[in-house]
Amino acid sequence: MQVPPFSLSQQINDLGSDLEQAVLEVLRSGQYIGGAQIQLFEQAFADNVGTRHAVGCNSGTDALILALRALGVGPGDQVITCAFSFFATAEAISSVGAEPVFVDANPDTYLINLDQIEAAITPATKALIPVHLFGRPVDMTRVMAMASAHGLRVIEDCAQATGATWQDQAVGSFGDVGCFSFFPTKNLGAAGDAGAVTTNNDDVAQTMRELAVHGMPQRYLHTALGYNSRLDAIQAAVLNVKLPLLSDWIDKRRALAERYLELLADLPGITLPSDEDGHSWNQFVVRVNCCAPSDSLGQPESSPSAISSRHGLPESTSRDWLKQSLQDNGVSTIIYYPIPIHRQPAYDHLNLQSGSMPTTERLCTQVLSLPIFPELSELAQQQVVSVLQQLLNGSVPAAPAPMVA
Ligand SMILES: *Cc1c(COP(=O)(O)O)cnc(C)c1O
Repeated sequence: MQVPPFSLSQQINDLGSDLEQAVLEVLRSGQYIGGAQIQLFEQAFADNVGTRHAVGCNSGTDALILALRALGVGPGDQVITCAFSFFATAEAISSVGAEPVFVDANPDTYLINLDQIEAAITPATKALIPVHLFGRPVDMTRVMAMASAHGLRVIEDCAQATGATWQDQAVGSFGDVGCFSFFPTKNLGAAGDAGAVTTNNDDVAQTMRELAVHGMPQRYLHTALGYNSRLDAIQAAVLNVKLPLLSDWIDKRRALAERYLELLADLPGITLPSDEDGHSWNQFVVRVNCCAPSDSLGQPESSPSAISSRHGLPESTSRDWLKQSLQDNGVSTIIYYPIPIHRQPAYDHLNLQSGSMPTTERLCTQVLSLPIFPELSELAQQQVVSVLQQLLNGSVPAAPAPMVA
């Protein structure tokens, strides 16, 4: 059996006729932009997150851009975020003309290191963007306390964490704005690109709504330079079918994560993610710190990547060896993310040297995401576990490399 890192085929089978019906209805209605499906989804999603407003838009990236613009973030402003995230978090900051200021990751949670935020605050700091990376909630109690002490806005990047909670409250309901992505691999996926912003602030909601439609509060009156970032009616219809199933899917992700944690607990060579209440397990990310067994010695064929060596990044031989060996045994995995944001060629101009974010840089050489999605069968998960056991029980643990910043 080949185990994919993610697959929609079982879900499409399960939802088949409901999804097809919903999409066909939109198609036949001729109402492709705006309309009842959008309103229905925005209301249901706001209720799900527990905010007064949810505004649909074209993607999670646009959600971040709309939030930044509605909160007045622009040229001359700094926005603090984590160097260990998907590129879009920083890209959104740059695209509104502000400057991303990176903070290193916490080695235990992989999330923004809360102990290092205050040192990064300057008079130009306008906002914080904590990222609920891999579906794990950031400690929003601490983030909101810091933000209010320093008069900063908070935009939660919830792209990977739809359905996650911090102290029993949904992520996306703590900050000024919550930004969600419905990219197909996220916890709640559309059939294409889609996103939403959530907020309790009426004015911010209205501004985001207008910016997403050419800064147009009423037809052909343009009060701001916005752009076009609407949620399509077909995507809203798909999301309306799927949203009621979200909490069930999160329960299934949790059950799979707990099973991995139990079955892989004593395996040498990998460090498991710590469990956490409210984690929505969009990814199950282990750190690989073994050496390849001596008979498969040294240089794995897939390593090092030309790009990472060109940019002076360390090679990740044992991780790449494990990834390739899993692949050879029918288990596909993904590396989120091989290159930290501050070391991406697009940010060369920031001049952030190798070594400036040591925990993030090390995570990028060690992380490996094991297959996890609600429909992953017990049999398939057992195969992942068995292959890992076979590969790692013969492995030599590397000399302990402390994860200190
Ligand atoms: C996916 C993702 C985004 C962007 O969402 P899109 O819908 O793909 O534009 C932003 N931030 C993070 C952390 C993500 O994982």
